[in-house]
Amino acid sequence: MKIGIDAGGTLIKIAILENDKFTFRKQLSTEIEEVAEWLKTVPDAQVALTGGKATYLQSLIPQNAFQSIEFDATFRGIQSFLTEMNLDISKFVFSNVGTGTSIHFVDNDKQIRAGGTGAGGGMMMGLSYLLTGKEDFDEIVTIAKEGNRDIIDLKVKHIYKGDKSPIPGELTAANFGNVLHNKDTENFTDADKIASVLGIVGETVTTVSIHAAREFGAEYVVYIGSSFLNNTLLRDIVMNYTVLRNFKPYFIENGEYSGAVGTLRLM
Ligand code: ADP
Repeated sequence: MKIGIDAGGTLIKIAILENDKFTFRKQLSTEIEEVAEWLKTVPDAQVALTGGKATYLQSLIPQNAFQSIEFDATFRGIQSFLTEMNLDISKFVFSNVGTGTSIHFVDNDKQIRAGGTGAGGGMMMGLSYLLTGKEDFDEIVTIAKEGNRDIIDLKVKHIYKGDKSPIPGELTAANFGNVLHNKDTENFTDADKIASVLGIVGETVTTVSIHAAREFGAEYVVYIGSSFLNNTLLRDIVMNYTVLRNFKPYFIENGEYSGAVGTLRLM
């Protein structure tokens, strides 16, 4: 048995390879000792680690694990998934929306880090909690679908009332910029607030990603990371905004396991 593990800031992603087939599972990073206990029950497994908590995990387990640099592992994993999807793109940007967001440019067999932003899954969780007291990921992404961003975010069309605007009216002019205009007439629900949090996270991630794509002359932006899990609103925001800016978005199924698969492939 071969086991690839990406021990990240929020989640530990585990990819198990047996008989040429992968199975995936994840666990909270706060439960890293439980993952170590499980690894002790499979002492003969070949283990490959990556991620910020890889060295700590190595200190807890009996296996002498292979370790790789997170960015290289993620890139290798993405290459595997793209091959499986029969998607033949050689020049692209990938944006890993984890606790934070890291953005990379790929040209055939090499990747370079193009930048990043602190807007990502951690901001989504933290801001949602500050605004609503909710902290369960599944609840947050479910409730977000019911939200109305129009009363919280100021759109270009709200500014150019009736006049022809130089950019599409549906674009956000100011995230959270419509709150004070509506404070006397609207009752902002938790769903509205969380939908707007997803709005600022998704639009920031997309803006930084497409700027990187433009800088490097790439046409495609590949998005991965657990922040997109069951998160149709965030996916829609990112997809629609990427398309609107004339780039081609791709979401990889199980893409959040790219680091775990990649470190195993590099072993
Ligand atoms: P990292 O490697 O930094 O842990 P991930 O790609 O695993 O990054 O993404 C972490 C983000 O995924 C969290 O910030 C949160 O938005 C989201 N997430 C998805 N599922 C969960 C979950 N069960 N518990 C907490 N956060 C989750």
